[in-house]
Amino acid sequence: MTEPLRPHATHPSELDSPPALKLAILTCMDARINPWDLFHLGLGDAHVIRNAGALATPDVIRSLAASQRLLETEEIVVIAHTDCGIHQIAPTEFAKQVGEETGEVPDWTVPATGDPYTTLALTLELLRAAPELKHRDKISGWVLDVQSGELSGPDGD
Ligand SMILES: [Zn+2]
Repeated sequence: MTEPLRPHATHPSELDSPPALKLAILTCMDARINPWDLFHLGLGDAHVIRNAGALATPDVIRSLAASQRLLETEEIVVIAHTDCGIHQIAPTEFAKQVGEETGEVPDWTVPATGDPYTTLALTLELLRAAPELKHRDKISGWVLDVQSGELSGPDGD
């Protein structure tokens, strides 16, 4: 058995907890996405919330509500992407597969479609309609093409 990875100690932080740019980024956990690089961010600039698919799940809305209400962010940018793992299989089908192996089907109903653009549009719609969020006037979204590195808007342009 290999040893579990161990983190390195880091330097003490003198940064404030609220992000300097008052920005929260929602993106996928995909290992090819570097949100700091996409926005030329430094440490302390933004909250980065990640899950499988950059989806507006209840826990993402909870995290964004905390980001805005407790830690002063005012803007949300969602970065979806091409070739996302969540588009390989319907979420309910995935839950069913796991259930066949474990004996219990997990409740993994998520707001996603089979396409990054329509999923992003749905995510933006859900965030803009979420009363838990204090600031909903600056919510935007992009689809990152992981092969080319290019970004396009929710309508594909
Ligand atoms: Zn993904």
